[in-house]
Amino acid sequence: MDRRLLGALILLLLLITGTAAYNLVPRIDEGGGEDTASVIVIAPNSTVKVTVRADGDGMRIEDILGNVKGWEDNGTTYCYTDDGGLFRARMGSFAHFDDGAFSLEGGETILGFAWGGGTDIQTLMSVSTTAALALNLSHGSTAPALVRTDADRVVVLELDGLGREILKKNDVMAPNIISLGNITPALSAYPPITNVGTSMAVTGYPSSENGILQRADHSLRKPTFLELASRHGLEEVWLEGDTQFLDADMETHVDINGNGSADDEIHFSLLRELNGSADVIMAHYHLLDDTGHRFGINSGEYEGALSILDSRVGEVMQELRSSDRSTLLVLFSDHGMHDDADGLGVHGSMDHRDMFAMTAYGLFGGAEESPEPGIVIGGSTENEVEYTLDEFRSLPSLVGNYTLKSSGGPQTNRYTGVPLHELLQEARPVGGTSIKAYSVDGMSIQYPIDYSYEGSGVIVAYAMNGKDLTDDGPLRVIVPQSLAGEYNSQVCLKRVVRIEVVS
Ligand SMILES: [Zn+2]
Ligand SMILES: [Zn+2]
Repeated sequence: MDRRLLGALILLLLLITGTAAYNLVPRIDEGGGEDTASVIVIAPNSTVKVTVRADGDGMRIEDILGNVKGWEDNGTTYCYTDDGGLFRARMGSFAHFDDGAFSLEGGETILGFAWGGGTDIQTLMSVSTTAALALNLSHGSTAPALVRTDADRVVVLELDGLGREILKKNDVMAPNIISLGNITPALSAYPPITNVGTSMAVTGYPSSENGILQRADHSLRKPTFLELASRHGLEEVWLEGDTQFLDADMETHVDINGNGSADDEIHFSLLRELNGSADVIMAHYHLLDDTGHRFGINSGEYEGALSILDSRVGEVMQELRSSDRSTLLVLFSDHGMHDDADGLGVHGSMDHRDMFAMTAYGLFGGAEESPEPGIVIGGSTENEVEYTLDEFRSLPSLVGNYTLKSSGGPQTNRYTGVPLHELLQEARPVGGTSIKAYSVDGMSIQYPIDYSYEGSGVIVAYAMNGKDLTDDGPLRVIVPQSLAGEYNSQVCLKRVVRIEVVS
């Protein structure tokens, strides 16, 4: 066949399947050698290993990823490290060469990068944040919530092993789950196995902080959202199978009727709890994962297990629809799965089919989505003014180049934000000797009152270089070096949610 025609056909095929954007391919592959290092990059539809040669002792993260065709510096890229760390990869930071691998400033080896492609991805940590926020429980995790709502009750279902790709390929077998909508690919922990993935979901912290890094670990170093609820006097229950795989308060179930699975016993308990007084309920279904291990994910048995799981989710949804308690339902899987050479299901590798799990949610019984909170301006003022994020972004704003310097060196960027002076005017300060700003993480910084004077240059920023602030935002106080001195970065409070006039 004519080569040009072949090329056109391939292009046409890529356009039709629409998956070109997630199919990563190494742009160069230098093989092994003393001055090369390898790293794995996963996207929702592909896993690649890229081996690159470095000039000098390392390279910037975006330069490593630039060797992967298909990867783009947009959306989100997460970084996995060998100490159990999982965080947004910081473009611009330097990775060192270390015995054939890349490592970060702190010495942690980079195990892999995960890129969401054109889709919005989360990590399993968002499960805990979402549940805690819905019940107004104070929570230290900074993982973004899947949805913000005020609910009387939260029901969380763990669908063991239902990877994002499995659900996508078998969507006709899961009509109830699909009908929830709001389904997002969610990154599991590494290794993607039950106790490690589940711990990240129930605590809202990566393995490096929650203490569960491998199969043998059981002792959680962070409270689960169920435990937080219990501390606040709420009634909680975690319905499990026959194995107490974490040192947490869980109600285990055995296979009483001997049908090979405890899922029906767990489901029976769940339906009873839904008609009881519990405020937070978590139930963990295992049958799908067990069936995948025994028969493979392309077997009729597996399809049957998925269908049973989906109908159980459907029964829960039906129960919630007929209840008058406002309820947030959250679904998540702890990891995915793929077939090995013998056609049996396995998981545990840095492979997109294992690493991309899923989350979904639904609101029932009158629960409504609340707007993203923005900022409150108050304290010693005549008015307390509250802006949602959308309202805040529509206020008259200022765009300016600011240099922020930390011990890592200076960085100049273009910030868009609302002058502090304008914000305070609206709240009408009464007296005032200083200004205090609070972050969502519970940090606060006190500023001299002249920071609020007209023309001080202090702004509350919502965008950097034209893009919404993510990690540091959605809102951040930006103080120019002219006021704060050369090392101004540390007083530019991130994730600010409240500003007060102090008198
Ligand atoms: Zn599992
Ligand atoms: Zn398994």
